[in-house]
Amino acid sequence: MENRILGLHHITAIADDAQRNYEFYTKALGLRMVKKTVNFDDPGTYHFYFGDEIGTPGTILTFFPWQGIGQGSTGTGMATDIGYSVPPASLDFWTNRFKQFNTKHGEIEERFGEQLLPFQDPDGLKLEMIVSAFQDNRKPWVTADVNAQTAIRGFHNITLTLRKVDPTATILTDILGYKLLKQEGNRYRFITDAIDTAAVVDIIEAPGMAQGRNAAGTNHHIAFRVKDDTILMEFREKIEKKGLNITPKIDRDYFFSLYFREPGGVLFELATDNPGFTKDESVDQLGSNLKLPKQYEGSRAKIEKALPKLS
Ligand code: ZN
Repeated sequence: MENRILGLHHITAIADDAQRNYEFYTKALGLRMVKKTVNFDDPGTYHFYFGDEIGTPGTILTFFPWQGIGQGSTGTGMATDIGYSVPPASLDFWTNRFKQFNTKHGEIEERFGEQLLPFQDPDGLKLEMIVSAFQDNRKPWVTADVNAQTAIRGFHNITLTLRKVDPTATILTDILGYKLLKQEGNRYRFITDAIDTAAVVDIIEAPGMAQGRNAAGTNHHIAFRVKDDTILMEFREKIEKKGLNITPKIDRDYFFSLYFREPGGVLFELATDNPGFTKDESVDQLGSNLKLPKQYEGSRAKIEKALPKLS
């Protein structure tokens, strides 16, 4: 099992206002900010990581808050909906909480035999609270308002919206080890049995839909999880053999990564469990200090001054 793709590692999306993004995910949703750093390619922008206590792969949603970037549009060629796994009987709690926070949300509905509640973050990013059909024993991060009976466990699934299902399905099945589980209308559900949670990828086939445009309220990329950098490089070879362009191994400080664009247009990343978020902060301290990669440590004063203050 260890040399396989272990479901999702993280999902990265774009926000506009940093403070608003930080408040929504830590307060309304009750997640932990496990790392506060900068975009390694653009140190004038934060990179926030929200997840469970230690940022376990499969729980991590990350954001680049680009002040003033404006609203993107959801469409084909992107990951469109993020599914969080929540406990049975928690959807009424979440409906009430969304009312309290003036969060846009839909009604409770059912799909593939699972109850779910669709909602949007303040930038219009589409998410769902889903009562998974599978056991989810992950230990959640809890807050004063969001207790263990209701708290988010981590990801259940990601939904990709694509013009055509087949080219991307081939990558999922032939390279990443997923299998088609079921189909409902134009939605195809893929799952890996390499891990019990964050194991689902849905594809919506929407041939007539316009292409999405990346800006606030849209997903930038999704990352699949591998155990370590040896296995990462084994996958690099497999992906290259399929004729896809893939980056060299990149050190993201808290994991090692590879990126490639799958044929449907979505940016896929593979990311490792090692070294993890406790590399430069203790578990208690996670997310409380601005952490900079080595190359920017010398410019810390300037970077700190330029970043929006969080309260
Ligand atoms: Zn990433």
